[in-house]
Amino acid sequence: MTGHFPPPPARGCSDTPVLKERGQHEVFCGLTGIIWLHRKMQDAFFLVVGSRTCAHLLQSAAGVMIFAEPRFATAILEETDLAGMADAQEELDRVVTQLLERRPDIRQLFLVGSCPSEVIKLDLGRAAERMSAQFAPRVRVLNYSGSGIETTFTQGEDACLAAMVPVLPDTDSRELLLVGALPDVVEQQALDLLEAMGIGPVRVLPAQSVEDDYGIGPNTVFALTQPFLSDTHAALTRRGARHIAAPFPFGEEGTTAWLSAVAAEFDVPQDLFESVTAAPRARARKAVSQASEGLRDRSVFFFPDSQLEIPLARFLTRECGMAAVEVGVPFLHRAIMSPDLDLLAEGPTLAEGQDVDKQLARCRAARPDLTVCGLGLANPLEAEGMATKWAIELVFTPVHFYEQAGDLAGLFSRPLRRRGLLKLEAA
Ligand code: SF4
Repeated sequence: MTGHFPPPPARGCSDTPVLKERGQHEVFCGLTGIIWLHRKMQDAFFLVVGSRTCAHLLQSAAGVMIFAEPRFATAILEETDLAGMADAQEELDRVVTQLLERRPDIRQLFLVGSCPSEVIKLDLGRAAERMSAQFAPRVRVLNYSGSGIETTFTQGEDACLAAMVPVLPDTDSRELLLVGALPDVVEQQALDLLEAMGIGPVRVLPAQSVEDDYGIGPNTVFALTQPFLSDTHAALTRRGARHIAAPFPFGEEGTTAWLSAVAAEFDVPQDLFESVTAAPRARARKAVSQASEGLRDRSVFFFPDSQLEIPLARFLTRECGMAAVEVGVPFLHRAIMSPDLDLLAEGPTLAEGQDVDKQLARCRAARPDLTVCGLGLANPLEAEGMATKWAIELVFTPVHFYEQAGDLAGLFSRPLRRRGLLKLEAA
């Protein structure tokens, strides 16, 4: 792979000792993923089996959206259910039957577990099996947990995709599977680049519709587009599929390295690879260099939140000239993260899990120029005069592949620019 980036560091972070923390953590729960997953899967419905809190979270995460026919809802567990006084399974059957009678457009139904349904040990797996048998072949019923107990918000997507893998049919065909929910326009950019290199057939998980189902088998190779898909990685591996390990497609370097790993798997000639990627690479380089003005030599501190922290630290340090002070991740999955860790020069503290008070103390002592964290921590840190970036925006904004590389750098430079302007006004 050719490039204008610094050579890979002599010592990356792969062998860096990891500071493991367990304590109070401040993150959204996995129900959040429903907001982007329901847009992606056009014939799916997400029925959260939870409390009023879960319904409120979904409503506020979705913003003020009015759907003629919404594709997610919450079946509220009332106090009688929680006290075990009512048969929640019977009640769930009734709600689902009503829903499916009213909505013939639903082809996949996800029963999504929550903290309350886990606390009362409501067996949604059994419910999904029973309902699948009842409503097959028109509707496929699956279940996963979006509970906020010991999880982080991107794990909702991971759990959802992992639940879909076992029901896909078997195949011996050699196919490439792209794994991870991307905005349609970004997904299409990736598919166009792969097609231009002659790579195919390419499938996508999650597919738009159950009609697009494909098989999985020993000749399936898969590339992850999101770094938080460790359970899906395990589920695909169990089906015999093979992971193409690569840095994640953030920034020009990450995108080129990701494409290059896929191209090598499919024996794409180097000159074809260069000709397909040259123009978008040049555009990405220019956009990143413009958007990252103001980031050079600034320091960044990541609280664990989205699971995107390691690839983003690699992007910010290698393409935008920032220095990482601490890179916190909720969970460190080495089979997925190694290629990015190899490129991240040693220096930052690597932390897994969270003890929020201790981490806040380290952050305050370091006074980084930019702190990437969840909403709950951003406000107090801003009040203390520190610039912050909300991690959740990185998941809701299109940031993958070449054409979004400049926007990705811009997401980090904007808070610094805004703070600079505020200081000027105050002077
Ligand atoms: Fe809250 Fe748990 Fe419901 Fe998420 S699943 S909204 S953390 S109660």
